[in-house]
Amino acid sequence: MKPSVLVVNCGSSSIKYALISAEPNQPRLAGLAERLGSSNARLKGVDSQGRAFEQALTDTDHTRALEAILDRLEGRLPDAVGHRIVHGGERFTRAALIDDDVAAAIEETAALAPLHNPANLQGVAATRQLFPDLPQVAVFDTAFHQTLPPRAYRYALPEALYRDHGIRRYGFHGTSHAYVSERADTLSSLVGGGWLTAHLGNGCSTAAIWEGKSLDTSMGLTPLEGLMMGTRSGDVDPSLHAHLSRQLGWSLERIDDVLNRGSGLLGLSGLTNDMRELEDAAGEGHEGARLAIEVFCYRIAKSLAALSCALPRLDGIVFTGGIGENSPLVREKVVAHLPHFTLGLDRAANARTVRGREDRIDGRHPAAPRLWVIPTDEEGRIAAETRQLLEENNA
Ligand code: ADP
Repeated sequence: MKPSVLVVNCGSSSIKYALISAEPNQPRLAGLAERLGSSNARLKGVDSQGRAFEQALTDTDHTRALEAILDRLEGRLPDAVGHRIVHGGERFTRAALIDDDVAAAIEETAALAPLHNPANLQGVAATRQLFPDLPQVAVFDTAFHQTLPPRAYRYALPEALYRDHGIRRYGFHGTSHAYVSERADTLSSLVGGGWLTAHLGNGCSTAAIWEGKSLDTSMGLTPLEGLMMGTRSGDVDPSLHAHLSRQLGWSLERIDDVLNRGSGLLGLSGLTNDMRELEDAAGEGHEGARLAIEVFCYRIAKSLAALSCALPRLDGIVFTGGIGENSPLVREKVVAHLPHFTLGLDRAANARTVRGREDRIDGRHPAAPRLWVIPTDEEGRIAAETRQLLEENNA
């Protein structure tokens, strides 16, 4: 029997989990422990009947939260644990079995992802404590983009910054871009087509994928580069830091905080980072909301057009992530900014493709690139990569 995998995505104060069986008729058990370390920590999820549950967690660190999660697995025990790890640097080009050496390498890479990798490692430590005999696998957000050629991943900076300090573009959301592009191949009966993928959630990124390999992507050294996001600015003039420091006396911490948590849809609208609320507000005439949506969509189109340079042939564009899957308005506006791609949106198909529907939303003209909406499945992909690695190791 194929192993069932507990997928763990551990943040500094949260653990997202999903128990995923390879048997098609076994339902996923999934949920989220949040606000860990605070007095109002909670565990929310769904059981095998699809019923939602929520419970308070007291005195909770990551290990205790995992114990509470274990109690919610209805007696089904995992055969392996798959961890989402944000940054794998240049060493990890694919998933890796976690031993002391791999854990140390993840820790070393924390210089490049100081907010994420240490939190991910807390999850690894807690699951190793709880399941000392189970294989633990690290699946990296950056690994899929390790196929970028140097012309796409190097910054035009002094060589020593790359050589001695690893300053280069890495890219993120790799499991999502890998999953939806592979799915687009399958749905289109293509073997290794040319895809532009747009993952539009709270974090947003685009990627150019050819024959199953990422050739360019919009995020860089950190997830701040590229598209405008929920609360992140995306690309700004690199001199902005110096300007804000010299002219306004802002500290590096303040600048970092504004660009990461006070900008994007939230900053530009002055209202919210939630696209649903922005669409409603724009409909009621809110100028900030309208502008935020305009800039957001224009920048996605601009990024897709730029990334198309990486592809020998464009077979289609894939929208995914909470916004990409659910916002016909955003998809329509993005497509409208790319008239030279002759995309041909099917408006009715676009309007009905929401809430987890996987569908093709172009007019199906044989010469036109396809437009797909494909709900992402990062957890499913992490489970699949975990299984594949274990199979290879046992072969
Ligand atoms: P995360 O990156 O945190 O995983 P998601 O992929 O869930 O986030 O995406 C969250 C975004 O999706 C939010 O901006 C939310 O408003 C947006 N979203 C979800 N449903 C809709 C909808 N029906 N219409 C427009 N935007 C939506």
